[in-house]
Amino acid sequence: LIRHKYGIYYSEYDEETHKKYHKRQYIVNHIDQAVQEGWIRPYYQPVVWSDTKELCGCEALARWIDPKYGFLSPGDFIPILEEHRLIHKLDVAIFESVCKDLRSHMDSGKPFVPVSLNFSRLDFELMDAVTVLNDLVTKYNVPRDYIHVEVTESALTDNMDILKQSMDRFHELGFAIWLDDFGSGYSSLNVLKDYRFDVLKIDMKFLSSFDTNPKSKDIIKSVVDLAKKVGMKTLTEGVETKEQAEFLNVVGCGRLQGYLFGKPLPVADIDDGIETGKYTVSKAII
Ligand code: C2E
Ligand code: MG
Ligand code: MG
Ligand code: MG
Repeated sequence: LIRHKYGIYYSEYDEETHKKYHKRQYIVNHIDQAVQEGWIRPYYQPVVWSDTKELCGCEALARWIDPKYGFLSPGDFIPILEEHRLIHKLDVAIFESVCKDLRSHMDSGKPFVPVSLNFSRLDFELMDAVTVLNDLVTKYNVPRDYIHVEVTESALTDNMDILKQSMDRFHELGFAIWLDDFGSGYSSLNVLKDYRFDVLKIDMKFLSSFDTNPKSKDIIKSVVDLAKKVGMKTLTEGVETKEQAEFLNVVGCGRLQGYLFGKPLPVADIDDGIETGKYTVSKAII
């Protein structure tokens, strides 16, 4: 809305920009309420072994189910929460929900698998991320090998000291650390030398020209071999076709994640998938 000394010019009113601005403000103003009212929930995306296709884990991915805006995906709120340095509030809510879900599965005897959690690089600045996670798993009495920490490669470009210390502490406590989005843009191969990761998640961009660009297969195979040489396991993200899955199994990428095996789903739908035999759980405590 442009106010001019001769009046208000409605022609300058850009409805799209206006709506976007309001949604952005809404997210910032409602993060606390969203956490309290349970609008923020983890959805779980299956991770399978590439050889047997058995379910070996899940990644927790945040969804914001809003009374006004409906179903929101990370692209709608993560960049805004990071910009306003509020992302840790959402992350803590997701960590706690995951711990609760794991606890209730253990209590009821339902099968379950390890869950990986996404950490924003800002989590390491905005809170003592290691203590926060460790207190939650202690509170809910969740075994530490059932929680994996995902750090995205873009986190490694700043805050090196805090991040390195945090990673050492995670490892000492018994949490595995996964490097997310490897190869998506920021990483130099140095990060593989300077940090200790247990699993390297190969970014789905590597699969984007799988059928058309013959180099993409060679590159994926080389990354898997390199990871193996430096003592890391591999997972490829964004697997959508049987041909991709077969290739990744042949070159020795141990874990696969992607729409071919399942989209992120509410915990009850994962349980249904296990009950109906869609998924066989390969590491379960009953
Ligand atoms: P990410 O951690 O790399 O997660 C993988 C993303 O790829 C997810 O998007 C997932 O739904 C999507 N995906 C999985 N398989 C396929 C596939 O076969 N094809 C395609 N096209 N996409 C696939 P999502 O859930 O929208 O999350 C986007 C990003 O937002 C995540 O990328 C992660 O960086 C961030 N994120 C999600 N949840 C959280 C959270 O709780 N905390 C923080 N800090 N970041 C989160
Ligand atoms: Mg991730
Ligand atoms: Mg990723
Ligand atoms: Mg990604």
